[in-house]
Amino acid sequence: MKRVKNVSEQDILNQVSTYIHSESSIEMIKKAMKVANEMHAGQFRKSGEPYVVHVLQVAYILAQLETGPSTICAGLLHDVLEDCDCTREQMVEMFGEEITYLVESVTKIGKLQFKDEKEYQANNHRKIFIAMAKDIRVILIKLADRLHNMRTLEFQSEEKQKKIAEETMAVYAPIAHRLGISDIKNELEDLCFYYLQRDKYYEIAHLVSMKQSERNEQVQEMIENIKGYLEVEGIEARIFGRSKHLYSIYKKMVTKNKRFDEILDLLAIRIVTKTETNCYEILGIIHAAYKPIPGRFKDYIAMPKMNMYQSLHTTIVGEGGNIFEVQIRTEEMDMVAEKGVAAHWSYKEGKSLPSNEEQKEIEDKLAWFREIINFNEEAEEAVDYMNSLKQDIFEANVYVMSPMGRVIDLPNGATPLDFAYRIHTEVGHQTVGATVNGVIVPLNTKLKTGDVVNIRTSKQSNGPSEDWLKIVKTAQAKNKIRSFLAKRDMEQKQKVADKGVEMLRDELRRRGYDDKEYMDPKKLEPIYGQCAVSNYLDFMYAIAVKSLSTQAVIEKLISASQKKPVMMDTESLNEYYQEHKYTPKKISKSGIVVTGIDSMMIELAGCCSPIPGDDIVGYVTKGKGVKVHRKECPNVQNEKARLIDVSWDENILKEHKYRADLVVTATDRNFLLSDIVTMVGQCKAGMSGINGQVLDDKITAVFKLQINVDDREHLENTMANLKKIPSVVEVERVIH
Ligand code: MN
Repeated sequence: MKRVKNVSEQDILNQVSTYIHSESSIEMIKKAMKVANEMHAGQFRKSGEPYVVHVLQVAYILAQLETGPSTICAGLLHDVLEDCDCTREQMVEMFGEEITYLVESVTKIGKLQFKDEKEYQANNHRKIFIAMAKDIRVILIKLADRLHNMRTLEFQSEEKQKKIAEETMAVYAPIAHRLGISDIKNELEDLCFYYLQRDKYYEIAHLVSMKQSERNEQVQEMIENIKGYLEVEGIEARIFGRSKHLYSIYKKMVTKNKRFDEILDLLAIRIVTKTETNCYEILGIIHAAYKPIPGRFKDYIAMPKMNMYQSLHTTIVGEGGNIFEVQIRTEEMDMVAEKGVAAHWSYKEGKSLPSNEEQKEIEDKLAWFREIINFNEEAEEAVDYMNSLKQDIFEANVYVMSPMGRVIDLPNGATPLDFAYRIHTEVGHQTVGATVNGVIVPLNTKLKTGDVVNIRTSKQSNGPSEDWLKIVKTAQAKNKIRSFLAKRDMEQKQKVADKGVEMLRDELRRRGYDDKEYMDPKKLEPIYGQCAVSNYLDFMYAIAVKSLSTQAVIEKLISASQKKPVMMDTESLNEYYQEHKYTPKKISKSGIVVTGIDSMMIELAGCCSPIPGDDIVGYVTKGKGVKVHRKECPNVQNEKARLIDVSWDENILKEHKYRADLVVTATDRNFLLSDIVTMVGQCKAGMSGINGQVLDDKITAVFKLQINVDDREHLENTMANLKKIPSVVEVERVIH
């Protein structure tokens, strides 16, 4: 491994002075050095060196990238807020808002912990990193910081070496690559390679060094030859050999499945010249002198890479059959190739823009920068690219953190509840409150990138409510809440239904029937249709809430088991109903919601039995709350002073049935009763009572029916069907 050279303050100032000349900028950098020295006094690195050595190295790397004075200062101060006794206010006073903002952002990103490799992929990490950094300069400082930490990784424990190297390989090297900072990217990759696959690293390093001197000779010879050709043509250029970094050789061997000696472009030459025209001229000269290998020429000048890289690439067969990769580019292109986005960003002195214009320029550069970092090499289709760009950064995600620094990505608009359900389903269910950045917030607060979210839970919590469905944004949280509510509803329903089982059994026993026989689900099933239910649970539930009377059920059970319809003359019919005297049931008050009034105080009037769809009116009784009548009910026609406006709630429970009183007038005949009962069943209108009588004329039969319907439409439908029964003359809804 390369030893890291120490840099002095003077080294940094020398490097900086190659491109920064303003007195005040240099003074600011000197001041930052002084403050960094003071602040870190007495602190040491694992290597045993004074801590300030680290920040000087970081500043030096930034100076090599030719970043501006603010960035250099922030690099010098980047660990001060975190590790030293210095407040934000003090820093603002000494160095102003801009530098403080940079240091703060670096500190914030430093707190990110990239755990849970399985859950969060490297790709995601990079996006989180970028989203949190917001400013290119923050990323450059982080890269410089990481580069120096990687260079001094030997002083960490082996476990830490692995962890940091893995993270660097997954997150930092690709970011450096996307930004086109190939110097940093290559160095990071080789350092990671060393710590992650040391055997391979040494193997390749050995192979490279074995051929080194031989190759150096070949390259040197080639350079001399090319120089000769260019001199003849009068073209000025710098020509030099370059070595590929070890990791790129290894990657090529693995991905292309090649042996070391099969890798063609180990011999590489770079030609840097003045103008673009020169580049193409040089290409022509080289292709005329040497045989180019087909399919290996690439014109990245005409078609720059997404990270702004420009160059001509060609591979040729040189003297002695050796194969050379040749890169041809201008000085400017060379700078971009090595410093990438930093070159584009590089500090230009004497350019003082009004602050709003400067802001605009930063925004423009950032937009461009975001495009670059989002460029996905695998999906080069422009449309895909634009879509994923839009989704990934601009619309879709916010990245928030748990107090432990775990990063959670959520869709835009997500709330603390979404966060809680992402942590764990039980955490979601038991949520009773949340804090964001230490402040208690409502559960419907929209989270922003960088928020630190803390969920308060309680085992005593009632669990999710319907309202939560309106608050959460993620499908995951919605599903968890829905299934929780459904399960709770089902449990409640089951409990109620158990009561129905008891009620039916007791009633059967009371009447002297064999409850075991009649309560066999197989026996019950045939009458579900007539009772307007579809399964055992609904059936027992309906009995429990008395939307089905045990009386009616038992009648149906008996008649179903008798199979044939009962034939009755009018006298026995009367007797039958005398015997099974019907007690009108009350529809339970619960579930009937009338807007504007507390539902506890509301009762549907028994006289006109309103059902959903009816025009209704509320009658304020003395001390018994509100009775709801149909508007046409004669009982309230003279009570205008006590009437209030009420209406049906749109969310009326489906299970709820409403009583309607009907009078069916017919010409008496055999099977008439059973036809009526069957028809009501077919219409899925539960029948809770029927009274019949034949008038004195011995011809006209009048049946009073109490049926249970969903709503007005259901009632009208049922009435129309009853009318179709042969010999039925009239079907009327009645008011008592
Ligand atoms: Mn640091």
